[in-house]
Amino acid sequence: MDFVLKPLGVFARQVYCIGRNYAQHAQELGNAIPAEPVVFSKPATALVRSGFRISRPPGIGRVDHEVEIVVAIGGSCKNIPEANAWDFVSGIAVGIDVTARDLQEQLKQKGLPWLLAKGCDTFAPVSDFLPRTEAGTGPWAFSLYVNGAIRQQGNTKDMLFPIPKLVSFLSTHFTLNPGDLIYTGTPAGVGPLEAGDRVVASIENTKIRLEMEVV
Ligand code: ZN
Repeated sequence: MDFVLKPLGVFARQVYCIGRNYAQHAQELGNAIPAEPVVFSKPATALVRSGFRISRPPGIGRVDHEVEIVVAIGGSCKNIPEANAWDFVSGIAVGIDVTARDLQEQLKQKGLPWLLAKGCDTFAPVSDFLPRTEAGTGPWAFSLYVNGAIRQQGNTKDMLFPIPKLVSFLSTHFTLNPGDLIYTGTPAGVGPLEAGDRVVASIENTKIRLEMEVV
């Protein structure tokens, strides 16, 4: 039952997400290239660890995968200059910004917030974290496979707003705290998930890997 998904020990307080951070993905959904980062958030209850399930609420329509590099904040900070931003990053992971696409399109057309389409339980799978001391500062290539077929490939060097810019920008609006997470945006190739799909995401040349089943 779904309630067994809860005791996962995921520690995050705030889960910030960046939209349209890769030009080809913005274009595939017919969105303009943004002049500033597009920011939304998910409730921490959406988080789920590798090895568990992505659970689609009944009747919600098409649900898409968006593979993303996830940044963990390691220190409290506010108004951080880009040059110091890496000092406040404790690790990186790979995650999926699971998105109820039909519902998101309806909400977008009405000018309403995306929360219902982005924030459901299990809509924020995340892998273990590679410590920043081990990971360096990238760039990182990452990918997502569904049932063994490649769906998405990205590289953080193609971000419109690089990780230091995102940390700095968010910190001008919000106090960032240890355990806060930032989903940094998805490359092109988003697509639907169906019941029974097996999803594997990873960061190249690292041990970081995320495996989920869709129900
Ligand atoms: Zn996303």
